[in-house]
Amino acid sequence: PFDLLSNQTKNLIDFEMDGYENILGQLRATFRSGKTKDLKYRKKQLEALLRLYEENREEIINALAADLRRPRQEAIVFEIDVMTNELLGLINNLDEYAAPIKPDKGVANMFDKVTILKEPFGVVLVIGAWNYPLQLLLVPVAGAIAAGNCVVLKPSEISVHCSRFIAETFPKYLDSDAYQVISGGIEETTSLLKHQFDYIFYTGSNRVGQIVHAAANKYLTPTTLELGGKSPCYIDDTVDLNRAAKRILWGKNSNVGQTCIAPDYIICTKEIEKKFIEESRNVIKEWYGDDVQQSPDYGRIATDGNFKRLVTFMNCGTIALGGKFDASDRFIEPTILTDVSHDDPVMREEIFGPILPIVNIHDIHDAIDFINARDKPLSLYIFTSNNKDRDLIIDSTSAGAVCVNDTVVHFVCNLPFGGVGASGMGAYHGKYNFDTFTHEKGCLEKSMDYVSEKLSDARYPPYTDNKASY
Ligand code: NAD
Repeated sequence: PFDLLSNQTKNLIDFEMDGYENILGQLRATFRSGKTKDLKYRKKQLEALLRLYEENREEIINALAADLRRPRQEAIVFEIDVMTNELLGLINNLDEYAAPIKPDKGVANMFDKVTILKEPFGVVLVIGAWNYPLQLLLVPVAGAIAAGNCVVLKPSEISVHCSRFIAETFPKYLDSDAYQVISGGIEETTSLLKHQFDYIFYTGSNRVGQIVHAAANKYLTPTTLELGGKSPCYIDDTVDLNRAAKRILWGKNSNVGQTCIAPDYIICTKEIEKKFIEESRNVIKEWYGDDVQQSPDYGRIATDGNFKRLVTFMNCGTIALGGKFDASDRFIEPTILTDVSHDDPVMREEIFGPILPIVNIHDIHDAIDFINARDKPLSLYIFTSNNKDRDLIIDSTSAGAVCVNDTVVHFVCNLPFGGVGASGMGAYHGKYNFDTFTHEKGCLEKSMDYVSEKLSDARYPPYTDNKASY
């Protein structure tokens, strides 16, 4: 009998069974009440989120350690500082971001009022990933709140401790009439995506990004997709290789490589490869000692599945540095692979772990061709002191962002953050975070006075040659 029902009726029954319609109905009612549009209310909610971070600092550090064995310093820099700075930026600049824009009117509208209004979308869904389980969820949530929306937050089920922390703590600080946490994994997210939202912001894999995009398409819901991919790192012989190695290995081994913008692989000549490996050997020893597994400053792979996938990459090419792993601890040593072929498994998918393959090229043109033959990356790293070569690479390739002579730090410097092509669509952070969750509504208010009407005469019938040339 269920099969005989129309699709529309089945959807309604699904909705009633999953219980989310009640939550969404409540959020829609709150949005319609206009409460979340009030600028004072928005600031209060953002300040409450800031207080949540201040008053639960140790709980946050502990939850991150429990999920990812995240070292304290990395928890502070990558999660607490990132979130705090984002919140302060939104709070301090909210009036400016939310102010209507007065565009150039032109002669035709000289007697009229022409404005671009900043309108929140409505009820927004934000789906987070496990690798930076707090900021990847709560930074976009802060943008959505700042823009005046109601929000459904869906933390990743994989980072269990952080998800529980959000589910329990968020409602104690923020208004539950406007913001609701829905916990769960694939089943719950699949149900949630059957409902209509006014905006969806998703962070995670390309594969699931396609599922989210397809679900959004049903209602033509605007969507930001923060995805991943392989971020290349080009090095030439004009840079200090010790400094380059430090900056690359820091970006690669923080959170043991489980970072969407970690340098995925190196592109360089055979000569640079040798020197880079020697420098890397020294840097790893200096940072983590003789036995990396004993270092308190080195994290662990989050899941058994990701651990097993990463270990298979050890069979690609030659292990030039590192190579140790321990399943009982989900430990993988910082590893550099050489002699990898272009279609080895390690070069076919995003690595998302502390394994760094080196691809050899003859010259800069080879490097550009290599990058352009693959999906557009989330980040492109260029280590060079040669400005002509720097510009040539930037101009001849496409990437979500470019960072010259460093890795990962472009994430925190007032730039739009997001991908392009297979690495995603849309961007956020700071003003771009506010703008992402804002519809810019054009508004023309015509003058009804005599002169304005006289000017309008030309458009009314009867159409004469005289009027056409007016
Ligand atoms: P994931 O896609 O497996 O999970 C992300 C979210 O999607 C989770 O909340 C999960 O519950 C949900 N989900 C999983 N399967 C689903 C399904 N079948 N249907 C509906 N929802 C589903 O991603 P992940 O493993 O958590 O993250 C790793 C990937 O995310 C990497 O590719 C990484 O590069 C990318 N990433 C991108 C950014 C960015 O800012 N661009 C940041 C972090 C991670």
